[in-house]
Amino acid sequence: MSYTIAPLLGGTFDPVHNGHLRCALEISEWLKSPVRLVPSGQPAHRDAPGGSASDRLAMLRAATATYATLVVDDREVRRAGDTYSVDTLEALTAEEPGTAFAFIVGADAFAGLTRWRRWERLTELTHFILVDRPGQAAPLPEVLERWAAPRRTRDPARLADARSGLILEAEITPLELSATMLRGLLRAGRDPAFLVPDRVRDYLLAHRVYR
Ligand code: ATP
Repeated sequence: MSYTIAPLLGGTFDPVHNGHLRCALEISEWLKSPVRLVPSGQPAHRDAPGGSASDRLAMLRAATATYATLVVDDREVRRAGDTYSVDTLEALTAEEPGTAFAFIVGADAFAGLTRWRRWERLTELTHFILVDRPGQAAPLPEVLERWAAPRRTRDPARLADARSGLILEAEITPLELSATMLRGLLRAGRDPAFLVPDRVRDYLLAHRVYR
């Protein structure tokens, strides 16, 4: 059986920035498939986001509105209570049995995978697409490296052969940007131009998010 590959990028997007967007666009071009962007509601494994869920979602929608291959899936924002990637992937897999999902993760996020809720179950539900993140080199814990070593590939076609369990190593244009850096800059009253799309900048300034 050959699966349809569906890459997805989860995150707090607090706020979305050009690092996220460039990464999603390049993966979409490489795999010739739209990328679904899935903003979290209230993630349990990290501090509460600085922007409200509705602000984070509105900025993500503004950023992607004119890009047909960047598709926002707001299911985690709509769900009440804690949100976990494993629950989202359980739901997606049930809805689309012919699809192989591929969770895009920065190397920093991937290094913490064993702290995600039911991470072993998650690996049965999705592939991973691993992207380097400049300035955020993070060695994998031994248990994760052992699991990951035989699963690494650079061939995107292989993702269609199975529904889960591979780690596709992607090369994308490195952009040393983070939402943490942007929140700091905005709190200091500085201009986020050229680090986020103009529509996101307009929203940030009009709604005084993070001020
Ligand atoms: P924060 O600084 O608040 O932790 P962030 O910038 O890391 O936020 P997230 O929403 O936590 O953004 O990230 C979502 C996903 O996007 C993660 O897998 C993360 O590794 C990845 N990502 C974020 N920024 C970049 C970037 N500049 N280049 C590549 N991947 C990125």
